[in-house]
Amino acid sequence: MTAQQPAPVFDWPQGHRAAAAFTFDVDAESCVLAHDPRAASRMSLMSHQSYGPRVAVPKLLAILERQDVRATFFVPGFTAECYPEMVRSIVDAGHEIGHHGYLHEQMQGISREDEARYLDRGLEALHRVAGVVPVGYRAPWWEMNWHTPALLAERGFLYDSSLLDGDAPYRFSVAPDSAEDLVEIPVDWALDDWEQYAFYPGWTGSGVIESPNKARELWLLEAEAQHRQGGCWVLTNHPFISGRPSRAHALEQLIESVKALEGMWVTTLEDVARHTAATCREVRTHDRFEVPSFPEVPILRNGSVVGAGSAPRRLATA
Ligand SMILES: [Zn+2]
Repeated sequence: MTAQQPAPVFDWPQGHRAAAAFTFDVDAESCVLAHDPRAASRMSLMSHQSYGPRVAVPKLLAILERQDVRATFFVPGFTAECYPEMVRSIVDAGHEIGHHGYLHEQMQGISREDEARYLDRGLEALHRVAGVVPVGYRAPWWEMNWHTPALLAERGFLYDSSLLDGDAPYRFSVAPDSAEDLVEIPVDWALDDWEQYAFYPGWTGSGVIESPNKARELWLLEAEAQHRQGGCWVLTNHPFISGRPSRAHALEQLIESVKALEGMWVTTLEDVARHTAATCREVRTHDRFEVPSFPEVPILRNGSVVGAGSAPRRLATA
């Protein structure tokens, strides 16, 4: 450690000062169909999504093999059923498969019962198609509900990677009154290719398709900063987005740059989660707040307080 490098924010295995994971969400058609089932009638839009499993995944697997990097692929159950050989090729190449919903369902506001059904159907599909029992979960759209962690723990999951509140992995209690915990490996929208490249008329995107050089620079800056502070860098790519030729080429250059950072542990989220579960003693809880009644702050009129709302308070149960 040099004078410029403070102690890492997290205790990594011997010989490492930070961690980096390349993750791929193999959404294919599922995210479009969950958003609007009528999209199934749009042949060109469906072909844009199928580019991922048909063309991009084999290309990305070749890059990962060349670079000798193991990655984590989050696969919706529907994608596994539509492209069984593709999913099995990921497994055969030694990569990790994680759970990513069944049809990449919209999670916001859904009931515990509905979410449990989606989880179970996704688990069944991954097991039937590829013999996989995933230990990791990534919520579709990174949209966790307060009841999600307990559902994951009930099903034996080790970790989640959908929350956005950390620079390093941590353990957290699945509910305020629960003795069970999960590992969280946080993500960040700045490290997601959707924001850089995703565009399809009438479906998604800002209309700005960034240069792969710009995306690579943005992501490498974050990797270098995480390397400096000893955190965990998690890149989220979607094959149908980042498997296009110049983007895949830039991704391979990025992999080379990240691997070259001294002491960077480039590995799967499962490896990061197992290390965290084995070595991290502290277990966090997530505060859930009740929205204060209006008005939120004391009202001053002519210098006197004439009214006030309730103070923020934590809810007792999730
Ligand atoms: Zn997704």
